[in-house]
Amino acid sequence: MAKHIFVTGGVTSSLGKGIIAASLAKLLQARGLKVTIQKFDPYINVDPGTLNPYEHGECYVTEDGAETDLDLGHYERFLNIFTSQANNVTTGRIYQHVITKEREGAYLGKTVQVVPHITDEIKRRMLLLGQNGQYDIIISEIGGTVGDIESLPYIEAIRQLQWELPEEDLLVVHLTLIPYLKAAKELKTKPTQHSVKMLSESGVFPDVIVCRTEEPLTNELKKKIALFCNVKAEAVIEAPDASTIYEVPLLMMNEKLDLTVLKKLNITKYGDAELGKWKGFLDKLKYPKSKITIGLIGKYVELQDAYKSILEAFVHAGAMNECKVQVLPIHSEFITDENVPEKLGNLDGLLVAPGFGHRGVEGKIIAVKFARETGLPFFGICLGMQMAVIEYGRNVLGIKNALSSEMDSHASEPVIDMMEEQKKITAKGGTMRLGSYPCEIKNGSLAQKIYGDTMISERHRHRYEFNNKYLEQYENSGMVASGLNPETGLVEIMEIPEHPFFIGCQYHPELKSTVENPHPLFVYFVGAAKQFNERKTTNKNPLLQGEMI
Ligand code: GLN
Repeated sequence: MAKHIFVTGGVTSSLGKGIIAASLAKLLQARGLKVTIQKFDPYINVDPGTLNPYEHGECYVTEDGAETDLDLGHYERFLNIFTSQANNVTTGRIYQHVITKEREGAYLGKTVQVVPHITDEIKRRMLLLGQNGQYDIIISEIGGTVGDIESLPYIEAIRQLQWELPEEDLLVVHLTLIPYLKAAKELKTKPTQHSVKMLSESGVFPDVIVCRTEEPLTNELKKKIALFCNVKAEAVIEAPDASTIYEVPLLMMNEKLDLTVLKKLNITKYGDAELGKWKGFLDKLKYPKSKITIGLIGKYVELQDAYKSILEAFVHAGAMNECKVQVLPIHSEFITDENVPEKLGNLDGLLVAPGFGHRGVEGKIIAVKFARETGLPFFGICLGMQMAVIEYGRNVLGIKNALSSEMDSHASEPVIDMMEEQKKITAKGGTMRLGSYPCEIKNGSLAQKIYGDTMISERHRHRYEFNNKYLEQYENSGMVASGLNPETGLVEIMEIPEHPFFIGCQYHPELKSTVENPHPLFVYFVGAAKQFNERKTTNKNPLLQGEMI
């Protein structure tokens, strides 16, 4: 049986519980322990797949095709492990399970209630991953903030587990904010005291308090927090603002968060923290030798979290290239034939993002055309690849009405069409082509050079695909399907060999980029953008088609 760490949050949302949980997990993993993290989300949606990015940021897809919270992306990027459907539980899923059982007659004769039936199911899910001996430690992050009505059943479940598990098998970390009042020139501990009081009133007593703060905590303040919050002074951990999220594990190590946790859990067998690779990455990240600008064309660009995994993949790939990647968000709805040179003229690379629906599509097509014609490195992901196919169809093959049937179900030239198996599906939740599928790469292609392999596996989230009726026409005119699903022939990668760097993929490579394994597609794309930028500075015209990287 694994030991359990619960991470709760207080005072306000957006304190970075996911990053603190992932950082603690990283430190424990670096000391040789087997760790995983799971997230409990207190909303009623069964999963975040049906939520629009404005509501909840990006939807992160796991290997097994679960549509999950974006914090799972942080867990994978920090720990370099795969998570799964089991790592993300929502209130909707808990209730769905209990109600299905009720209908089956599992509780015949009984009134089904929040306590004990819902809390029993929450506890079952909290303990599930720790039962097969695969892990030493399970970290459970509880979404929301203590005091929210929705979080109560989760806090109650932790309260019950405090009595059901051996004392040394359970630990609660509470993350709070210590605000700095400029006028008083003082850090204030009162909100933290209140938040811990509220948690204690629910019967949950935190063992460790992690304090987000903009100013350093003095020892006196730490002692004060310890006194009022009923923990040891060494269990009050300062979490200052960091220049990058990837620095947080080291900041937590300085505060001995890992050692405090190991002591309370009575874990005596662990090694020195093995963080050489991590520190190497951080060094490269902090001291880049060059800088490039990548345009990110999407329709949720004002929202950082909507393209979280893409932005992080650029951080990993940038470090690998010892290059700072500045990502410039560009709203696709405002791109026109007239303003495209001005909007994209200073970029070193262009990424057209994934997306759904018709809004902003024409702007994306105009942007692809600019990149194709000028030799600007281009990378299209999912909808981005589909836009590249439409653009090529219209402007190179002369298929004037080329379109995706997503934008017009009666399109006369659906070069992108709904997948056959999707046509009979009407329900929206969890019904796309999701998760990991194999892809066979053509010898001699750019994709093969990038992956250094001919058989890969990547994660998906889409309903539409390249329409293979048009494949011959495309390939005869210079756009090549360099990656195909070996069983179905579904086009996974499209590229233009004539162009210095032009590649689109139907899958989502950003979901598999981690600190220790940056994704090769991003690494090569950044490399191509770097070369493009260098040509600019050596006064060669970068917009002329150059040799292939
Ligand atoms: N909307 C497109 C489809 O369903 C692309 C999806 C995406 O970009 N994730 O096929």
